[in-house]
Amino acid sequence: MQFRDLKAQYTALKEEIDNEIATVINDCNFISGMQVTKLEEQLADYVGVKHCVTCANGTDALMLALMAWNIGPGDAVFVPDFTFFASGEVVSYAGATPIFVDVCENTFNISPESLEKAILGVKNQGELQPKAIISVDLFGLPADYPKIKEIARKFNLPILEDGAQGFGGSIYGKKACSFGDISTTSFFPAKPLGCYGDGGAIFTDSTEIAYYLKSVRVHGKGTSKYDNVRIGVNSRLDTLQAAILLPKLKAFQDYELEAVNEVSERYTKLLGGIVKTPVIEEGFLSSWAQYSILLESEECRDRVQDELKKDGIPTMIYYQKPMHQQKAFSGKCIYFEELKITKMLCERVLSLPMHPYLREEDQIEIAKKIADIVKK
Ligand SMILES: *Cc1c(COP(=O)(O)O)cnc(C)c1O
Repeated sequence: MQFRDLKAQYTALKEEIDNEIATVINDCNFISGMQVTKLEEQLADYVGVKHCVTCANGTDALMLALMAWNIGPGDAVFVPDFTFFASGEVVSYAGATPIFVDVCENTFNISPESLEKAILGVKNQGELQPKAIISVDLFGLPADYPKIKEIARKFNLPILEDGAQGFGGSIYGKKACSFGDISTTSFFPAKPLGCYGDGGAIFTDSTEIAYYLKSVRVHGKGTSKYDNVRIGVNSRLDTLQAAILLPKLKAFQDYELEAVNEVSERYTKLLGGIVKTPVIEEGFLSSWAQYSILLESEECRDRVQDELKKDGIPTMIYYQKPMHQQKAFSGKCIYFEELKITKMLCERVLSLPMHPYLREEDQIEIAKKIADIVKK
């Protein structure tokens, strides 16, 4: 059994994907081919924002967003403590200070109450300038934007939505990657919409920021690549990856997002009452980058993982360590409370095999085994 079965997806889309790849190779337009522009238009249209600017990966997407806001030394950026390393890494890379914030027990996403406390904490300390909020749409579920936006407005802070895992999710029909002043996503193969290598994208309604991003991703180009008006980077999405994403985006819209939600409902029915299953609040839709259950203790979680592994069922622990405990942030980050929920989640979460092609019989087998192990 696969944790995320990319081969099953390829089998389903083989003809379209192979054709797209062959076209790029025939045309030899490997960099900035027309497939890149076409994909950007389709992505902006799907998400419901004015501009999509693709780039080399989801981490660069975050970094470029911070560059657009000129964030650097002396600035404080608020980041959930329970997320993938890159969400905080980019803040330190920019020379700013990540302020780690606890998450909600039910949604695993940034806690609005803890966020407000952290902003006030920085203001009271008076050493750093609060500059931005990075909210993460963890495991495919959009963060609580109605509440986060209220706080952002109150303190006049822009929101950077890290939608690396959130693409396809929504709140009352409004799509993930449209909630931030700038939003980003990743096309790493295992993400909800993945390519066959690294890839990323940035979304914004601001024409000025989109223009800046299109320049900075190609060495700060002006009228051409050889007219350089600012210091930039080299961070483009390959034409091949864009071409592969075109049929994948279509399948994602046509049936994959729906299929993965059916898979999650089935899991929840099978596992309800046995372990704590994910909570999706009213109006929210997840794109299920992960389906993560909560076991009663670390000992139990580790036992479930070991026993499933013996039976050939792969699981993952997202995430093992709170961000503020990562060695890389030692002495380089700030937090204002104990970050208890994150600590608890790191001890007790377990992500199960999850993808649109997961078969019902496999889910029944997984659930049955979990029930047996938990009861022991
Ligand atoms: C995967 C991921 C990223 C980074 O994306 P890459 O394309 O791997 O650079 C950033 N944030 C979160 C929350 C992620 O899951």
